[in-house]
This record gives sequence, structure tokens and C-alpha cells, in this order.
Amino acid sequence: RGHLRLEGVTKRFAGDVNAVSDVNLDLERGKLLGLLGPSGCGKTTTLRMIAGLLPITSGRILVDDDDISLRPPHQRDFGLVFQNYALFPHMTVAENVAFGLDMRRVPKAEARRRVAEALELVRLPGYGERKPREMSGGQQQRVALARALVINPRILLLDEPLSNLDAKLRDEMRREIREIQQRLGITTVFVTHDQVEALTMCDVVGVMSGGRLAQIGTPEDIYERPASLFVADFVGRTNILDCEVLNGHRVRLGDGVYSCAATTIRPGKAKVAIRPHRINLTPHRDRALLSTSTNSAEGRVLRTTYVGDIVQYDIDIGGPTLQVETPTHGRGLAVAVGDKLLCEWRPDDMLVFER
Ligand code: ADP
Ligand code: MG
Repeated sequence: RGHLRLEGVTKRFAGDVNAVSDVNLDLERGKLLGLLGPSGCGKTTTLRMIAGLLPITSGRILVDDDDISLRPPHQRDFGLVFQNYALFPHMTVAENVAFGLDMRRVPKAEARRRVAEALELVRLPGYGERKPREMSGGQQQRVALARALVINPRILLLDEPLSNLDAKLRDEMRREIREIQQRLGITTVFVTHDQVEALTMCDVVGVMSGGRLAQIGTPEDIYERPASLFVADFVGRTNILDCEVLNGHRVRLGDGVYSCAATTIRPGKAKVAIRPHRINLTPHRDRALLSTSTNSAEGRVLRTTYVGDIVQYDIDIGGPTLQVETPTHGRGLAVAVGDKLLCEWRPDDMLVFER
């Protein structure tokens, strides 16, 4: 129960704009999929099509091999949570949570029991008689979650549910939602523009760009093996630099020639991506210690920025400027503007993409 498949799902609004183009994905039951992408890339449109709130232009949506593409929302048995909670202000918390049960004509006594269970699940036992406005944003979002879950939905759909919460609460709610999702084993699609949210909460991440699924994979796939420059740039911090491919494993970057991860991109101009925290800084005099398989470049520190948990350095390596990050503690390297240092990084951490 709850295996979700999208086949060529497309949405064209009036005016010939494809808001979503040919989205294909297969989500195993019980898994949490994050749809990640910048504003306007088609996340909400995709979610609304899955929910049945928006008709699809072409393609198919299947749940447990059952084609539900044309089924109205209330017959899909999906639970929905939105960014703005969308609670009914004049109803109590219990009435809000019971809404889906009343619609389904669940007997009163059973409804009362299930509402109490759902409020227990979201850690709001005893809050049933309150009005939404008497509760904090985080509590209101928990009520919305209880309302979505009380019907035992086949699939849970969440559209940026944490975006209205402050950072600390958001972090807490991420864990809580993930915990509930795993406990219930409920197939879930979670829309977010926040890469940390997608990487930390999800089993599978689908990165969207311009209405298309740019890449789908585990958080590690997405972060370590981005399929395109867009994904490398959007997920995590990355140096993106102009380079020239010399052959399948060598690139020129400014004045230097370096080893890169194996590439099939033909010789010529390209882009290279290197994560700032994958670059090590060592004092100039340690050069003899470097292994030959590691890239190294002499650099001059242009700028240092203290960020708390990390320090960021802008380093001129003879043409391009590299951004490098090191943890604040544990390195013991005192670096100041103007210092000369060696930057070193592994070929595998140097990914080449078409321009
Ligand atoms: P996201 O949720 O990723 O921010 P949306 O799915 O809301 O993006 O929107 C994707 C694209 O579709 C945007 O360009 C948006 O302007 C357009 N769009 C969304 N809803 C409509 C609509 N009802 N009519 C016309 N265009 C729309
Ligand atoms: Mg949206």
C-alpha cells in the first residue's frame, strides 16, 4: 500500500507554458521523497497533480499500479499539509482534525478515538478544545499534520510545511516529521526549496529545474555525484570555475593543470565544480609531504570570513579564486589575509561539466 509512480507527468497552463515537463519517478512504499528546487521550478504544481487538485495535461499517476490520474482528490486517500497550515479558524483543534473523518461519515465515537490518537501522535494530547489561533505556528502545523494523518492516508503530501517556522523549531519539526513518517511507514512526498531539509530528511531527493526532474537519487548521490552543473550548484556550496578539459582526466584551471574525476567531456572549455570543504589548506613548507595523486596549488589568501562553525577563505590560485572552508576547531592552522598556502584536493572531488 502506497507505491507511487509518475509516468511522463506534464502540466501546461494556458499560454503554452510547461510548468512541469515529463516527470518520471518511482517511489517505493514507505519512503520519503523530497522534491527540491528553486522557487517556480514546478514543485507545488507536481504535488497538486499528485493530490488531484490540478488536472494533469499528459502522463499518468499510479498508486500500487492503479491509475488514479483522473480520480478526484477525496477518492485518492492522500493526506495534505501546506505551508500556511490552512486550519479552519472557527473550529476547535479536534474539529479540524476530525474534518476528514466527518467527510467520510466515520461514526462519532470512532472519530473521537482516532482524533485523540492523531493528536497523541503529533505530541498535542489534550489540545482538542483549543482554537488554532491560541497555538503557536509549530503547534498549528502539528494540528495540520494530525488532520492529514487521521484518515490513514495511502500517501502523505507536504508542501513546504516548515517554511513559516523559525530555524530552531524547523530543525525540531524536521526530526519529528521524519520520525512519525518512519514509525507509520507512510509513503511521503515532501516539497522544499531548502537543501538541508531535503538532504537530512529524505530517502530519495528529486531535484527540479524549470519543470523538469534534473536528478533523482539518494541524498548522497545528489551531493557526491551531481548529474549536472545545476545540481552541483544548487545543492551544497560549490566552487564553479571555468576550465579547459585537456583529456579524460586532466583539466587546466588558470595557470595550473590538475587531475579530475574521469570525464567523457571532450577537450575544450568546460566548468569544474569543487566543494569548498574538500580542499585542504597546508602551510607552504609541508609541500614535500604531499602525495603525487593529490592536486595541489599554491595560493594566496584574499579574504577570511568567520562563520562560527567554519571559516571561509577566498584563495587566489593563479587566476581563479577558490573558496575553501575549514572547521573552526581542530585544524590549528592560523591563516591571515596575504598568507601563502598550499591548497590540496583529490581528483575525485573535481567534477567536470559542460558549460
Ligand atoms: P514552485 O512550487 O516550485 O515554486 P510552482 O509549481 O508553483 O513552482 O510553479 C511552477 C510554474 O508554473 C511557475 O512558473 C508558475 O508561475 C507557473 N504556475 C503555477 N500555477 C499556475 C497557474 N495556475 N496558472 C499559470 N501558471 C502557473
Ligand atoms: Mg511552491
